[in-house]
Amino acid sequence: MASVKTNALVIRESPYQDNDKLLTLFTEKYGKQRAIARGARRRKGSLRSVTQLFAYARFMYFEGKNFANISDGTLIESFYPLRGDVIKMTLASYIAELLDDFYDFYQGDPEMLKAVTHIFYYWSEGLAQNDEALAVCFQLKLMRIQGLGPVLTRCVRCGAREEALTGFSIPDGGTVCQSCFRPGDKPIDQPLLQDMRDWMQLPIKTICHKKWEAANVQKGLKLMDRYIVAQLGHPTKSFRFYQELTGQKAAQN
Ligand SMILES: [Zn+2]
Repeated sequence: MASVKTNALVIRESPYQDNDKLLTLFTEKYGKQRAIARGARRRKGSLRSVTQLFAYARFMYFEGKNFANISDGTLIESFYPLRGDVIKMTLASYIAELLDDFYDFYQGDPEMLKAVTHIFYYWSEGLAQNDEALAVCFQLKLMRIQGLGPVLTRCVRCGAREEALTGFSIPDGGTVCQSCFRPGDKPIDQPLLQDMRDWMQLPIKTICHKKWEAANVQKGLKLMDRYIVAQLGHPTKSFRFYQELTGQKAAQN
């Protein structure tokens, strides 16, 4: 059995047998992995801290037939404050859920891992001007990396760039001009469109420190979740929970 060392984020954890945990790791080198952490639920187990949800650690494990078997771990960041704030916890769970949904086992993406650990860091340290802006930034960057990024610079139906882009079509994957606007398209105004381009393109650090119009952030977050749901073909549980928490209607209207 080969022994492997890699940095990874715990994106899912569940109890397993008496003292063990079953984890889903988003690793730097080897993509998404299912792993067993023996003894991780023992009070004084050495793997206890590195196997908490959202922990970012350097893991050593042996590749197994069905699961990797974790032999050692050194904590890099616990992102512990995420667990003390229900909104941040829900947004972080949303990111974990989408990573799990969009990545196959063994499909690595160091760029995405880096982006997510930065977002978790900014949330944990309370550094973001608007926490949700980082969630929309994640949604857009995830779609772009997956080759599903929405078109935001021209009309997806006629190709016009000069026309005012006044709508967004989820099935057609991007903005539409006034002449091509059809029932079912979502209206989108210029400030929101400009913000969405920024969230897709600007570095995460810039998005973290910039002030954003809160109403635009909410509109962008909701629009992108519906876009993502259309790609996945099933609802996103954590986002539904986020909408319930923030008093928004969870119904997909
Ligand atoms: Zn058009």
